[in-house]
Amino acid sequence: MAEDSLLDHALVRLDEATAHLNIDPDVIEKLKFPRETTKVRLMIRMDDGSRKSFLAWRCRYDDTRGPTKGGIRFHPDSTDDEVETLAFWMTFKCAVMNLPYGGGKGAVQVDPRKLSKAELERLSRAYIQAFARIIGPDRDIPAPDVYTNSMIMGWMADEYAQIVGHAEPAVITGKPIALGGSLGRGDATARGGYYLVRHLAEDLGLGNPMRVAVQGFGNAGQHIAQLLAADGHKIVAVSDSEGAVRADAGLRVDLLMEAKANGRSVISTAGQAGHEILPASELVGVDCDLLVPAALENMIHERNAHSVKAKLVLELANGPVTPEADKILAANDVVILPDILANAGGVTVSYFEWVQNRQGFYWTVREIHERLQAIMEAEGRAIWNISKEKGITMRTAAYVHALGRLADAIEAHGTQSFFTS
Ligand code: NAD
Repeated sequence: MAEDSLLDHALVRLDEATAHLNIDPDVIEKLKFPRETTKVRLMIRMDDGSRKSFLAWRCRYDDTRGPTKGGIRFHPDSTDDEVETLAFWMTFKCAVMNLPYGGGKGAVQVDPRKLSKAELERLSRAYIQAFARIIGPDRDIPAPDVYTNSMIMGWMADEYAQIVGHAEPAVITGKPIALGGSLGRGDATARGGYYLVRHLAEDLGLGNPMRVAVQGFGNAGQHIAQLLAADGHKIVAVSDSEGAVRADAGLRVDLLMEAKANGRSVISTAGQAGHEILPASELVGVDCDLLVPAALENMIHERNAHSVKAKLVLELANGPVTPEADKILAANDVVILPDILANAGGVTVSYFEWVQNRQGFYWTVREIHERLQAIMEAEGRAIWNISKEKGITMRTAAYVHALGRLADAIEAHGTQSFFTS
């Protein structure tokens, strides 16, 4: 029998939410499939003069609530299934936060660490040349994701401006500040998760200080470690693709960040007494109060979920816990703050960037933080209340919350556009 796809896993969550709402089956039919996925081969010139091709995608999953929105991932393991699933999650994430967007996602199947900077720029520009007709500030708005960053968004925005003949900063978010990027976008994903944990701390019965383990030490992982450590919480373990480092007395986040900034793994900081190096796969079982998956999908699964000792999981990564692992964690009374809520700070500040680009008037970092905090707390509280009222997990409650908004929008469009769009 064929293995379940990632999208099959994601759709399990939709089924679970549907059981708690009185939803027209036509709405579910619309949300079960991506609206359009375009797959191309990008051909670029390498520094040695040879030509090399890379598979690339852009998926617009659903645009009922507005232009599709979602990051571009550069990863050697990207597939059609992964891109479509990430776009499905974006659809629900934007609805959870009540942003006027649908869900999309893009990817290039490449290991960017094996490209020179010039090759990376050519690849980023080739992506926009291929997808310029699909994206647009009112149609589909990309942003950074795994192994892409503001520098890449800057090249992409520049390429788009050259194609359409004028600057169009709202076409892409996560840009450098100099090109119309928003203050506060860099740490927005982690900051949203941080506001959420802080807001629900009392309801969740969290102790202070907490012992925290962070899986994945990129944009999301580094910033959450920094924000929590600044509040006095202890970062007892972190990992990246090469391994994990643990210290019960707490790790120095500044040293870990310095190692990453210099292209080294977090395990290179393990020289001091009390530090232990572990295989990356052992991070989820580290003794801690809060586990933060901030790497890739499917990292907590039925074979390792039993080893989780944390009582709270903050999903900064997209899809880090499989449906089977969800059941094991729930049975062990582990609360999960689900991805479509927990990591939605990134797309929310991306939305702020798009708003600022369109109005040509820019906000202070304080305004950004205040607006983000207000939305995170309001939507987090609403989902907490649904979870308590219906006696369901925070994940199912988040899907119920989003699905209600999506169903209203699908129905409001009327049947004509419903079946032809
Ligand atoms: P990133 O590329 O900056 O960092 C990814 C990190 O994961 C790297 O440190 C990498 O070494 C590590 N990693 C890879 N494989 C690993 C493994 N097997 N074990 C441990 N670590 C591993 O990416 P990011 O932007 O921080 O994104 C991380 C996750 O957060 C992804 O799931 C992404 O979709 C999600 N996310 C990111 C944003 C954002 O704004 N950056 C927004 C929402 C969701």
